[in-house]
Amino acid sequence: MQTIQWFPGHMTKALRMMEENIKLVDGVVCVLDARAPFACFNKKLSSIFKNKPALYLLNKADLISESDKNAISEVFKSLNLNFLFTVGTQLQSGKALYNAIIDMFAEKIAAKKEKGIIKTVRVMVCGVPNTGKSTVINCLAKRKQAATGDKAGVTKGKQWIKLDNIELLDTPGTMPPSFDNQIYAHHLAYIGAINDDILDFENLCFDFIEELSASHKQALVERYNVSAEGDVIDIFNEICRARGFLLKGGECDYLRCAKAVIDDFRKGKLGKICLEKAPV
Ligand code: GDP
Repeated sequence: MQTIQWFPGHMTKALRMMEENIKLVDGVVCVLDARAPFACFNKKLSSIFKNKPALYLLNKADLISESDKNAISEVFKSLNLNFLFTVGTQLQSGKALYNAIIDMFAEKIAAKKEKGIIKTVRVMVCGVPNTGKSTVINCLAKRKQAATGDKAGVTKGKQWIKLDNIELLDTPGTMPPSFDNQIYAHHLAYIGAINDDILDFENLCFDFIEELSASHKQALVERYNVSAEGDVIDIFNEICRARGFLLKGGECDYLRCAKAVIDDFRKGKLGKICLEKAPV
């Protein structure tokens, strides 16, 4: 298993920006990928917003099954976390998210209302890269546009996005400064949260096939029309041949195959696959 570490300098800057701005917000929306929700937890982020109410979005919920959702719900409930499953590409998630944010601050909003003041709720949106932060924000913005027909519903300033009574502080994707858990690091790589340029894709796919052949063998069998029997290299070879990923001499083109397999997973073409139903 390759050791993955990725914490580019711009993330230190982003975390500092978040530390400076946390006092300006009422709470936090932390966007996680429902396929690897526990890998997406960033302790460094949690330490920044520890005193603020937080809503965890389990986004990309369309890529996991109902039973996976139930299992994850149980864990989040047992951890006393406020959470919501979302599909950032579906408008109804924008509506649900709007209601969840308003619910989070219902008391504050009511207290201000008694004084005749309309409270603007300020929320920081954060998470590891590629979990769908921008998509979710757009979804929330479209909800407003759909409801009011107001084309200028979104005013995107530096990082603040104003949507009538909610203001969102968009933040760049940030990683934990280091990974003590390499299983999580690999899950983050599979879901595209880690810059592909630093990854050894052939090895990454090797590890991915190993994990999948233990937990979701049928997904490999159905997608690639292979037996998925034998060890990982046998399965990798089978997929290469089935897909015609071969070099001139007839040898397997592992790199091309690895990219295709990981891409299939990312796009949901391997079916609904949840890598973590509970902390690993
Ligand atoms: P960010 O880096 O966290 O801002 O992520 P983006 O909003 O740029 O989204 C990353 C990718 O995930 C894009 O290709 C989105 O279309 C896709 N995406 C976002 N939300 C969802 C979702 O709920 N389901 C699926 N299947 N794809 C999503």
